[in-house]
Amino acid sequence: MTQEKIHSILTSVTDPEVPVLTILDLGIVREIKQENAAIEISITPTYSGCPAMGTIADDICKAFRAEGIENISVKMVLSPAWTTDWLSEEGKKKLSAYGIAPPLDHDADKAALWKGAKLIPCPQCQSTNTKMISMFGSTACKSLHQCNECYETFDYFKCLK
Ligand SMILES: [Zn+2]
Repeated sequence: MTQEKIHSILTSVTDPEVPVLTILDLGIVREIKQENAAIEISITPTYSGCPAMGTIADDICKAFRAEGIENISVKMVLSPAWTTDWLSEEGKKKLSAYGIAPPLDHDADKAALWKGAKLIPCPQCQSTNTKMISMFGSTACKSLHQCNECYETFDYFKCLK
């Protein structure tokens, strides 16, 4: 199996919580090993305690089996830990288009999360006049925010580092 083919299979596996993001957009695929007929994919969990990771591992196995690859295994690599820096530029654009504010740089992000600074732009109108409503949005990986300009509520993908 060519690397290209493996990549195209991995592209078909998406984040169950943000279906527009493929696992390649997330940047969680660490290593692809191929030996004879066996393929091993190493992935790093995005957020520890994110139940989506088990689903992603299952989905990877299913995607390869659908292509006739039975000898597929998925290995979790915990270190170094995933950070939002690993999101591809394409992935950040997709997040924004999906209505989730992509992570800002770390300092801005921490300030926004911990001091309540109004730094997170609204994905609807781009205004930075937004407030955090809850530390936890639709999942533990996201916080919930509201725009003071257009009253849109939106999830923000938390930046971990
Ligand atoms: Zn807005």
